[in-house]
Amino acid sequence: MPVDMIEYAIGVDLGGTNLRAAAVDRTGKMLDRISENTNFAGGREAVLNDIVTAIQKMREKHGAQGLAGIGVGVPGFIRMKEGYITNSNNLPYLENFPVRDEISRRLGTLVILENDANAAAMGEKWIGAGRDVDDLVLLTLGTGIGGGIISGGRVMRGFVGMAGELGHITVVPNGNPCGCGNQGCLEKHASATAITAMARLMQLGEDLSSKDVADLAHEAGEKGDKARTIWRVMGESMGVALAMLVNTFNFPLYLLSGGMLPAWEFFAPHMLRTMEQRSFTFRATRTETRVAQATLGNEAGLYGAACLPWVEKKG
Ligand SMILES: [Zn+2]
Repeated sequence: MPVDMIEYAIGVDLGGTNLRAAAVDRTGKMLDRISENTNFAGGREAVLNDIVTAIQKMREKHGAQGLAGIGVGVPGFIRMKEGYITNSNNLPYLENFPVRDEISRRLGTLVILENDANAAAMGEKWIGAGRDVDDLVLLTLGTGIGGGIISGGRVMRGFVGMAGELGHITVVPNGNPCGCGNQGCLEKHASATAITAMARLMQLGEDLSSKDVADLAHEAGEKGDKARTIWRVMGESMGVALAMLVNTFNFPLYLLSGGMLPAWEFFAPHMLRTMEQRSFTFRATRTETRVAQATLGNEAGLYGAACLPWVEKKG
């Protein structure tokens, strides 16, 4: 490679409604980005075309020679060996099809698929709140709860790519039924959807967002009390889950991201108190174990996808 050429990778984040792509250099500097609506209803060929076209545009601009590879973050489980996506609610037509090899064939370059929450965890590890550690857990708090586990600087995937499903660990043994078949999953008790449901049950409002409930928690009086109760319950559920994670991993860092962070001051004290009650390991390492807010927001997955060609190439 000529000395003046910038080595870069392209990260792609295939979300629920749009496709984002970014060219990122080896130091984590974003050189370029695009965000496009994607024709998800158009089926497999339309989506593959959109991905390939977006990458081609960036490659033309920044030069094919410097391109180290492409990482693609997708919602769903990834069979790494085969390069397949399985069980993707948003992209059913991409399931059990050689997505990785097909994109790689059309572009003639290295392609790595990764689960979106795993990619976000990798992004935080690379240049976000986790840059100083090699081991961390990320929980993405949204309408559901996703999880990513980084151990020794690498994504922990499990033998068929299904590790890190932290939204579906049990926090209330006979709790709310979940679509996964379990009862009392973390995401049934601590996601944005759960906050909205609790607000409805407590007659705070029919369709309040977690932001609305966070705003209400600032108010004095009965409404504020109810909102603060909701965040206490949410924080305790998070604490149960995090206590288990601390006991399991003894990692130095547990990161939370997503639209619930504005309510941090209302749920975090309950979360940390519950962790102290339920985890000896947490009490014993209280000053060294950090529970913190992720810093890259919804860019984390883009950065994380982009760093994969370098991380995975190391073997
Ligand atoms: Zn579940």
